[in-house]
Amino acid sequence: MIYPQLHFDGQIWRPPYEANSQLLQVTSGCTWNMCKFCSLYHGTPFRMSPISEIEEDLNVIRQWQPRARRLYLTGANPFVLSYNKLMDIAILLRKYLPDMVSFGMFARVTDIAPKSVEELKNLRHMKLDNINIGMETAHDPTLEHMNKGYHALDILEQLSKLDEAGIRYNIVYLNGLGGKGQGIESAVATADVLNRLNPFIVNIVSLTIFPESRLYKELQDGTYIEEPEIERLIEIKTLINNLNIKTNILSNHISNTVPLTGILPKDKATILRQLDKAIAESPEHELQAYRNSVWHL
Ligand code: SF4
Repeated sequence: MIYPQLHFDGQIWRPPYEANSQLLQVTSGCTWNMCKFCSLYHGTPFRMSPISEIEEDLNVIRQWQPRARRLYLTGANPFVLSYNKLMDIAILLRKYLPDMVSFGMFARVTDIAPKSVEELKNLRHMKLDNINIGMETAHDPTLEHMNKGYHALDILEQLSKLDEAGIRYNIVYLNGLGGKGQGIESAVATADVLNRLNPFIVNIVSLTIFPESRLYKELQDGTYIEEPEIERLIEIKTLINNLNIKTNILSNHISNTVPLTGILPKDKATILRQLDKAIAESPEHELQAYRNSVWHL
């Protein structure tokens, strides 16, 4: 028997909590592809899937997962698609999969900017209930050094629009990104912005530099110095200590030397105690050995 195949190009990433979602490619690669630390989509040029290809895939999904309830649209930032294009896709999802309850995708902060709150509300109405944003930090010097292409004020403006439109969002905080000596500033600046927003999940990932990234070259020539591991734990502690919103903390990725999860504010004291213990008892060289053993995210 020949099984029908879905169109997937290049690297496919999805958040761990989307493990039960049906994946559907609507873009591949990243429109920006300039963040210095990133090696996620290297070698894959950005491409929008033609509507005919999306419909072919939906036909296959309709045959094999006719009751699919959650769809996750793949690519580094499908939310870059215009409002009209996203509405077209949302209409197709409803047409092919009437039992679908919701869909989500990754987005860059800058992808939200061209969309009005009214348009975002319409997308929410069409079952877009969640997007994942690699925010990394709200520390402007770090955002600039890493070529993220936006500043803290943009984060605040654009994510506030999601709050207003009722679209839930999860953000990634990239622990260690500022390099040695920058962690506390990065954490304080980020907490300051997040305290004015409503992220559903703050997903803390710890920077792990791979040879395909531009940052690797800076590391090699000594122009970038990695944040030591204990400093990174102090950075996370500072972030959590300074957050005064209700949110979920996920810090249990392979890149995290000390796995932590919890709900703020309920679990704040417990998480801070866990971090204090790890800071007091973990030898730096052991944490670094762990970091060096991470060969893939
Ligand atoms: S971090 Fe995200 S936005 Fe930046 S280059 Fe990588 S995939 Fe693109």
